[in-house]
Amino acid sequence: MGFSTHHSPLARYKMSNETLQAVRGMNDILPDEAGLWLWFEEVVRDWLHSYGYRNIRMPLVEPTALFKRAIGEVTDIVEKEMYSFEDSLNGDQLTLRPEGTASCVRAVLQHNLLYNAPQRLYYSGQMFRHERPQKGRYRQFHQYGVEALGYAGPDIDAEQILMCARLWKKLGLRDVTLQLNTLGDSASRQRHREKLIAYFEQHQESLDADATRRLHSNPLRILDSKNPAMQELIAGAPRLMDELEPEALAHFAAVQEILTRHGVPFEINPRLVRGLDYYNRTVFEWVTTRLGAQGTICAGGRYDGLIEQIGGKPAPAIGFAMGVERLLALLQEDGMALPGPELDAYVVHQGELASGLAGLVAENLRDAGLRVALHCGGGSFKSQMKKADASGARVTIVIGDDEAQAQQVSVKPMQGGEQVRVSVQDAAETVIQFIEQE
Ligand code: ATP
Ligand code: MG
Repeated sequence: MGFSTHHSPLARYKMSNETLQAVRGMNDILPDEAGLWLWFEEVVRDWLHSYGYRNIRMPLVEPTALFKRAIGEVTDIVEKEMYSFEDSLNGDQLTLRPEGTASCVRAVLQHNLLYNAPQRLYYSGQMFRHERPQKGRYRQFHQYGVEALGYAGPDIDAEQILMCARLWKKLGLRDVTLQLNTLGDSASRQRHREKLIAYFEQHQESLDADATRRLHSNPLRILDSKNPAMQELIAGAPRLMDELEPEALAHFAAVQEILTRHGVPFEINPRLVRGLDYYNRTVFEWVTTRLGAQGTICAGGRYDGLIEQIGGKPAPAIGFAMGVERLLALLQEDGMALPGPELDAYVVHQGELASGLAGLVAENLRDAGLRVALHCGGGSFKSQMKKADASGARVTIVIGDDEAQAQQVSVKPMQGGEQVRVSVQDAAETVIQFIEQE
């Protein structure tokens, strides 16, 4: 951005300051909060590995056509939430990923991972959707996505739901409930679709603008409407459950049977249709009433048609995604806050000889596995000690000329206790002893 030259340097400085803000709906995660993220990521990674899921990492940007084809043209995401742009260098139509399933399936097909063996995969990272920012709803947010590709049976559906239940337990989450539904297969969906259109046609005057537009292109989506004025009409709509084939019903019954055997309670919600087109059969959401309107923390389902839809040989699959911001908000509701990695030692020093030694001592301590900040930027011992205090380090290493001459350091426990003077060689062990005594 250029600034016109008639502004004074100060005015230009102020203007540039005002423009330098994060994009609306895209959050910074500051160090005080990042501790909770790091802890969460560690717990989630261990949990995923304990079920044999393997990590995959896809680009943040994909061809726009991928999402249109995978998610469906008549969905909230594709109609109004995608950050799409033209690559100004070659004219390609590109999109910041709004979700990960499409990219994951694209990657699996492109690299031929699927047809020798089924795959249990996971990924994590930023997703982008141009929504109205509010609590629990951002334009850049984070998901963990979990996909099992090449599995047809109800056993894997149940596995994914059970694994969620285990994670909530590990995280100590309260008040999270499971909603479950089946969307059946394409023939039953087609029959249901016709009945839905007939029903909503009879009530055209009660449809909002979105519903009117979707009446013929994607009437199932109307059931997904969040408009309170539409809820009564939606409640009276024909039920897909009444159209299901015996195979789909048996699959659904088997999923429920496994959940019951494992003691995982659920509620069947026939209105649960999910916001993306690619789902069939089992769909589920984990919801809480403690986050206001943004109460879904995890959602997923089976998508047996998607792989073929984006150009692969047909193969069944199921997956889910968790919203990290919402999960962490729930943990914070319960008062959970974790500091980032703490410092073991802060090294203060003064004088040329001492400063040279201080750098070597800091490296030695790190060799011993300690977390060490070396004071940088000079200043009096007094001001350096203040920094040491503020750093939260458990021990301060003091090196003045005296110590340096003798190839020694002073080790001062910050929680009180006697300062001791030891040789450079004994510094690490002394710090470790102090920390263990605490
Ligand atoms: P919602 O109904 O809340 O719009 P969705 O059906 O669009 O959710 P999915 O596409 O299923 O959401 O994404 C899975 C999870 O990702 C959601 O359950 C939620 O926890 C999280 N999520 C989705 N959109 C956002 C967003 N804009 N900001 C923060 N988290 C989000
Ligand atoms: Mg949404």
